[in-house]
Amino acid sequence: MGRSASGYDLSPLTADARAAAEATLTPDERRVILHQGTERPFCGGLLKNKEAGVYVCRLCGLPLFRSGSKFESGTGWPSFTTPYDPAHVAEVVDDSHGMVRTEIRCARCDGHLGHVFPDGPAPSGLRYCLNSVSLAFRTEPPPPGAGPSLAPATGPA
Ligand SMILES: [Zn+2]
Repeated sequence: MGRSASGYDLSPLTADARAAAEATLTPDERRVILHQGTERPFCGGLLKNKEAGVYVCRLCGLPLFRSGSKFESGTGWPSFTTPYDPAHVAEVVDDSHGMVRTEIRCARCDGHLGHVFPDGPAPSGLRYCLNSVSLAFRTEPPPPGAGPSLAPATGPA
């Protein structure tokens, strides 16, 4: 795979880079990111974060959402109206739990992020519903050539 419009390399991680990144995950992060889990609502460390910056993939560091598209959805999970770059967020049909939903994953590392629903605010009309543990907060986007971020486990409280 090539580069996204915003300049990021979307090639899959090498096996070594993936193993190194996965080794930094906590058990909760592992359950959500690698096994499509869901964190409990109103618990996520990034739910109430209002700082200006960029939300990147916890596993590989790809920028996924900007703080400017974050909104208070009332659901208890961090919610966004638009991705940083549409090519960075992959959509997968999820028919588990007796519902048909659209799962969202990181386009580079395939890590589970959450779901997208068609009931968001204008103008996109979309609600990207995220697990805090799938994200890491950065005040600046990482340089496009950056590899896995090996991010610390938690963002700002
Ligand atoms: Zn990723």
